[in-house]
Amino acid sequence: MDKPKVSLVECASYDTAQTEAAVRKAVDLLGGMGRFVKFGEKVLLKPNLLTDAAPEKAITTHPEVVRAVIRLLKPITPHIYCGDSPCVWGGEKNNIDRVYEVTGIKKVCQEEDIELVYFTKARMAAGHPLAEWAFACDRVINIPKFKTHGLTVLTAALKNLFGLAVGMNKMKIHRDNPRIADLSKVIVDIYEVRRPDLNILDGVVAMEGDGPGSAGTLKNVGLIAASCNGLSLDIVLAALMGVDALDIPTNREAVRRGLGPASIGAIDILGVELKNFITSDFKLPKTSVIAKMPKWAAGVLTSLLTMKLCVDASKCKLCGLCQKSCPAGAMRRVKGRMVVDRTKCILCLCCQEVCPHAAVDIKKSLFLGLLSR
Ligand code: SF4
Ligand code: SF4
Repeated sequence: MDKPKVSLVECASYDTAQTEAAVRKAVDLLGGMGRFVKFGEKVLLKPNLLTDAAPEKAITTHPEVVRAVIRLLKPITPHIYCGDSPCVWGGEKNNIDRVYEVTGIKKVCQEEDIELVYFTKARMAAGHPLAEWAFACDRVINIPKFKTHGLTVLTAALKNLFGLAVGMNKMKIHRDNPRIADLSKVIVDIYEVRRPDLNILDGVVAMEGDGPGSAGTLKNVGLIAASCNGLSLDIVLAALMGVDALDIPTNREAVRRGLGPASIGAIDILGVELKNFITSDFKLPKTSVIAKMPKWAAGVLTSLLTMKLCVDASKCKLCGLCQKSCPAGAMRRVKGRMVVDRTKCILCLCCQEVCPHAAVDIKKSLFLGLLSR
């Protein structure tokens, strides 16, 4: 049987022509867009639109990468739709409009004359309320951003599919699945039930450190990557980060289900060699050690580890977004400051993810510090 393929292409900037050429090359290395989409089919594009962040903050998929994908599709089909379902802003349509506007996705979709859609209607699939659009379309093209993630270490092809869970349902999923292993199962459930036909990664400017929100640090990687197997793409990214593929909990779960290869040796890398993108100093999230733990240990030890969440009052603008996004109702305003009730907190890190001012920080306990060495 053929090995799954991942194509890697260099792309130094988000210049329109350069990005388009890189995306085209990445897809051509896999056999061209015609291999994945047939004439006249309906295609849903699913970028990562976590919040209302400008493209240069590298929190969301860059609109020029989305434009490049649209331009590859146009000769094949006019039925192209683009959408995501960020829960940061409460899931209401006018707030989603704000996300579409600020991320630059609306402008690109208008210029390319394709329809922006809203994930308001859900279909229950694999036990989760997922965007009907993902099932109404013949094809789904996943366009993740390459970022670190405090819970899952990496957010890329697999984790981006969590965005198919409609709006505020994500909060309930977090509340019901506080352990990383359980949340990873949900993410892989979603990937498995609506597996994208193609994954095209924006890794031109990626994020390291305490991603995926404003607490992360921008990292110039200069990469556009593509694969029809999301797990393979995420395994290649793990290698780029200097992480064992199975230390990424979503990879571990997907491998357990047989959804792709278990190691980089079982993947065909096409295009530029991986070593061209590897840097020895890729910074992982402070919490990454927790993701490595087996489920029993993570469950028992999470409370002992006492990752302490702190809101830095000098950065906090009291916007209330963290409070709105906290699935456990653990954040509240006390005497003009935002505080975390540690008796309620389930350490989901949603507050850190959504804070636009990098005001939520994680202090490692001594125990976690020792484990991280
Ligand atoms: S911690 Fe961040 S999200 Fe929460 S109120 Fe302060 S600035 Fe807003
Ligand atoms: S305080 Fe933050 S980490 Fe704790 S449950 Fe709320 S959103 Fe999650």
